[in-house]
Amino acid sequence: MEQIMLEGRMRDIGMKLLVLSGKGGVGKSTVAANLAVALAMEGRKVGLLDVDVHGPSIPRLMGLEGQRIEADGLELRPLEVAENLKVMSIGFLLESAEAPVIWRGPMKYSVIKQFLANVDWGRLDYLVIDSPPGTGDEPLAVAQLVGQPAAAVIVTTPQDLAIADVRRSVSFCKAIGLPVLGIIENMSGLACPHCGQVVDLFKGGGGEKLASEMHVPFLGRLPIDPAMVTAGDSGQPFIHRHSETPAAKAFSTIVAHIVEASSSGGATGES
Ligand code: ADP
Repeated sequence: MEQIMLEGRMRDIGMKLLVLSGKGGVGKSTVAANLAVALAMEGRKVGLLDVDVHGPSIPRLMGLEGQRIEADGLELRPLEVAENLKVMSIGFLLESAEAPVIWRGPMKYSVIKQFLANVDWGRLDYLVIDSPPGTGDEPLAVAQLVGQPAAAVIVTTPQDLAIADVRRSVSFCKAIGLPVLGIIENMSGLACPHCGQVVDLFKGGGGEKLASEMHVPFLGRLPIDPAMVTAGDSGQPFIHRHSETPAAKAFSTIVAHIVEASSSGGATGES
C-alpha cells in the first residue's frame, strides 16, 4: 500500500534532484534551498524536501523555523512559500528543533519511506531533496525510494579532505545507478564584501580536478560570501535577496547547468 502511494506521488514529479555531500558543513542545505528558490524564480513548479534526519536545516534557511505540520490522515501537506514553491522538512514533524533524533537504521528507512509516500506535492517539475550527508543507509534509502528520473548534485569544499569524501559520494552514485549531474565546489575563494572580487583563500580547483578524474561534470565554484551566512540565518534565501553578488551570479550559472543537464537526462521541465 505504502509502496503504491510512494510510486504514485513520485510519478507526478518531473525530476528529483538529490543534493548530496560527503560530509556535513559543506553547504549542502544552502545549495538545496537556493536551488529550489532559483528554479521557482524561473517559473518552475518546485518542491523542496529536507530528509536530513540528523540536522534538518531547511526550516531555518527558508524562514520556517518553528512551523509544525500535522498529518491529515495519511496526508502531509507541505508548506507553500510561493504559488510554485512548496517546502517539507522532517523538522516540521519533530517535537522541537533540539530533539535528538536517535532512530536506528531500519527504523530510519521506514520513517523516510513513510515520509516520502505521504507528502502530497501534487504535480511538480522538480523536487529538490536535501539528503542526509555521507554515503550511509539514509542517503541510500532516499536514492532508492524516489525512483526515476532522479539525479545527484554533489556539493564539496576545495580542501583535500572534503575531496576524499566526495570521491566516495561519486562512487556511491555510480554503484546505485544514480546519474551525477555534477559537482559544485562551495566555499571556493572569498567574495570581497567591498569590491566583489573573489580572493582564493585555500588552494581552489580540487572539485574541478576530481570531476574530470571521475568523469562527472563540474557545475561551478561558489565563493564564500558573508551575505550567504546572514541570508541563511535570517531565513531569506540568498539568491532571492542578493542577485547581483558574485556568489549569486555564480549560483545562477550553476542552476542553468543543472536545468540543462537534467532536461537532457529525461526530465521534461514542464508540467
Ligand atoms: P550542510 O548542509 O552541508 O551541513 P549548510 O548549508 O548548513 O551545510 O552550511 C553550513 C554553514 O555554512 C551555514 O552557516 C551556511 O550559511 C554557510 N555557508 C554555506 N555556503 C556558504 C558560502 N558559499 N559562503 C558563506 N557561507 C556559506
